[in-house]
Formats: sequence, structure tokens, C-alpha cells
Amino acid sequence: MASKVDLHTHTLASDGALSPADLVARAAAHGVNILAVTDHDTCSGLPEAAEAAENLSVTLINGIELSTVWKGIGIHIVGLDVDPLHGSMLAATKYQTRSRNQRAIEIAEKLEKRHMPGVHQNAADIAGTAQIGRPHFAKAMVAMGYVSSEQEAFERYLGAGKVGDVKCHWPSLEQVINWIEKSGGVPVLAHPGKYGMTWTKLRTFLDEFISLGGQAMEVSYGAENPDRLFELCKLAQRYKLMASVGSDFHSPRYSWTEVGKYPPVRGTHDPVWARWT
Ligand code: AMP
Ligand code: MN
Ligand code: MN
Ligand code: MN
Repeated sequence: MASKVDLHTHTLASDGALSPADLVARAAAHGVNILAVTDHDTCSGLPEAAEAAENLSVTLINGIELSTVWKGIGIHIVGLDVDPLHGSMLAATKYQTRSRNQRAIEIAEKLEKRHMPGVHQNAADIAGTAQIGRPHFAKAMVAMGYVSSEQEAFERYLGAGKVGDVKCHWPSLEQVINWIEKSGGVPVLAHPGKYGMTWTKLRTFLDEFISLGGQAMEVSYGAENPDRLFELCKLAQRYKLMASVGSDFHSPRYSWTEVGKYPPVRGTHDPVWARWT
């Protein structure tokens, strides 16, 4: 049977809308048989996902998407096939939980100065046991009537370069790659087209990423411009990085993403998923 692969997805453990079991079921329904669950800065959804995957004959890859900052740019590094119980992964998620909780306080302070008090409690309630993130703030701001949509919350207050885009708590690139490697995982640059970097800047990033142990790069991902794909494949080849693919699925409400959906990979590439097929 041909494999259908999705190596980047989210659940209620971070800012996704589905429980880990429901995500796995949705993946299976869409024909995905190799699935990585990669929640932001947490592995807490993985046990439930593993149980569901076993029942549905889906191969689950234990994953995580770690937040870091490089030259002032917020960057996401996916770790694939990590051991969630390894000391390094436990250290990573503990560090990131503290970072996110501290950042949440600061985001709320910034919003308070913009005459939007009380968002922290509301966002924390919405997040519940999930790793708190900006999407929870966006939902809280809608619920409190400060904005009319989550999109507006990002455009005006939370998106890149806006007042609520607080990045100062993220660990270094070296640190996140180290955590992933030590716990047996493959460090993957997530969605390289989403950082607003020029190709020159991306090449500078890749030099450093590789020198620190980076091994792969997403070449195709959900809602991405298919034209960029060919260039990213070429770049991966040139830098001897393995290629990864994933939808970055968050919610069935977002009609532009679906589990297992991303532009088909053309061009030559060395698939990171070959080892799991
Ligand atoms: P955080 O990890 O808390 O910094 O939040 C980043 C997350 O917010 C991303 O993973 C997306 O799921 C979501 N996000 C980022 N930008 C936007 C946007 N413009 N509109 C809606 N969601 C966004
Ligand atoms: Mn997200
Ligand atoms: Mn991301
Ligand atoms: Mn993601």
C-alpha cells in the first residue's frame, strides 16, 4: 500500500481543535497512515494519540514543534521521532511551559495597556491544560468583545511585529536542536516560507541550523504556495537536508488545511519519512 504521510499536526494539547484521538481518527479517515503529532512545546497529547493510532493501524511518530528565536525572528523547529520520556524532552517541555506562562503574563500586560484588561484569565481558561499560546488569547479577545474575529486579533495585536508578539522567552536555536537530538529525534525546520525571510536570509539560517545539527526541512506544508515548493526542494538538496512534509493541521474550521493535505512534492528529495515506511 502506498504511504500517505503527514508529519506536522496539532491537537488540544496545544492550539489544535481536536483531541489527540479525534485527530488520529481524522487522519485515518483521510488515508494518512504515517502521522506525526507535533504540538507546540508539549508531548502531552502523544500517549492518547498512540493508543488511537494502534487501534487504527496508523504509524504514529512522536513529535513536537519547539519555539525558538533567531536574529529576532520567531522560528519553529519540529522534532520527529523524539522519545517523550527522555530527560532532554522532559527538560524541553518544562522550560517551554515556563516560557509560555511567563509570556502569557506579558502579553496580557501589553493588552492591558491597550485598554483590554482581563484577557489572561480568559485565555488561561480557554487553554485549560493545553500549552497556552496566542490563539487562546485571540479566542479570549473575541469572547470579551475586544475584537470581532480571531483573525482581527492577530492582525491588530498578536501577529508578527505586533504588541502581543512577545518572543523574548524562547530558548536559542542551539538549545532546541540539542533537546531534540538528545532525545533521539530529527530536528526539522518547520514551514520555511512563513517567517518572511528573504532567500538570502534563509540560506544564512540554514548554514547555522546545519552547523548546530539540523537535519531536515519542510518543503511542502498546508496552505503553502506550490511554486515555492520546487525552490525548497532544490535548497534541501543543495544543503543535504532531508525533506519533510506536513499539513500543519489545527482545526476542521480552517477550510484551507486538512490532515494529510499539502501540495504534492515534485523535484528531487531525500525523504525523512523513508525510515518509517
Ligand atoms: P504561539 O505558538 O503561541 O506563538 O502562537 C502561534 C500560533 O498562532 C501558530 O502556530 C498558529 O497556529 C497561530 N497563528 C499565527 N499567526 C496567525 C494568524 N495570523 N492568524 C491565525 N492564527 C495564527
Ligand atoms: Mn499553532
Ligand atoms: Mn509553526
Ligand atoms: Mn505547527
